[in-house]
Amino acid sequence: MDEVRIEVQCNSCKGTGVYRGFTERPGFGAVCNDCKGSGKAIIKYIPFTGRKEIGDIKFVYYSGGIPYSKDGADNREKGAISYKEFLMGSMPSHPKE
Ligand SMILES: [Zn+2]
Repeated sequence: MDEVRIEVQCNSCKGTGVYRGFTERPGFGAVCNDCKGSGKAIIKYIPFTGRKEIGDIKFVYYSGGIPYSKDGADNREKGAISYKEFLMGSMPSHPKE
């Protein structure tokens, strides 16, 4: 999917291109640093078209700082599930102490 770009109003200056903070004296405005005075910002995003797969994942778990073994011997006891199960819609359990 191609990246989509949309023009939105600059948040910093509310679309004016001019910024007035508490250092600006009355009657003065500074060119907005974020939009360089244009008043606009551009948001880039890629529309979600479905979860993608990773080729070399075997297990999925919630990160919790506990070690998982490479061969997966006791990973299930710790809450991990196979990547295949994850792809089928299952979710791992939160790590057990
Ligand atoms: Zn701006």
